[in-house]
Amino acid sequence: MQLRTHIVIGAAIGLWVGGPIGGALGAFAGVVPDVDLDVGSVARGARWLGVIGIAGGALGGYLLNSPTIAGLSIAGGFLLLMLIRLPHRGPTHSLALALLWSLLGGLWLRDPGLIGAWAAGYLSHLFLDALTPQGIPWLGPLSGGRLRLARWRTGSLWDHAILILGGLIGVGWIGWKMVG
Ligand SMILES: [Zn+2]
Repeated sequence: MQLRTHIVIGAAIGLWVGGPIGGALGAFAGVVPDVDLDVGSVARGARWLGVIGIAGGALGGYLLNSPTIAGLSIAGGFLLLMLIRLPHRGPTHSLALALLWSLLGGLWLRDPGLIGAWAAGYLSHLFLDALTPQGIPWLGPLSGGRLRLARWRTGSLWDHAILILGGLIGVGWIGWKMVG
């Protein structure tokens, strides 16, 4: 699916699950699985984030005298740089990584609605990509089998219909809040 479809659907679900902050987290989590693309803005952003994580972690850890901060952000930076080297629609599009992602969110977010938005955004990405002909390696790395729920191409009419649906769901939340 298109990047904007992932963003809008992630944001719409996040809004309903965790309010405005949930919407932002859902949109972010909705594009994260595509850090494995070696072209495009997600990978470029991820590359910068990885480098900043490593450099900032080393500097921040030194200045704050905190080995935990240094260790975590350096490890996170390296992990990110590693992820964008993976084949597209590989391990980042598996349930195992979605679970890991959700656990990480649970560790730092602590609010059930925000954790829900964080996890749902990621899962929505996997679901949307499972609707395309390429499918997703949902059971990776245990099995190479791919899950294909439909054969809707990226950029097709279906993709745009889902994008519009996501927009409506998001606007619906705003309307519901204004009425309620
Ligand atoms: Zn994807």
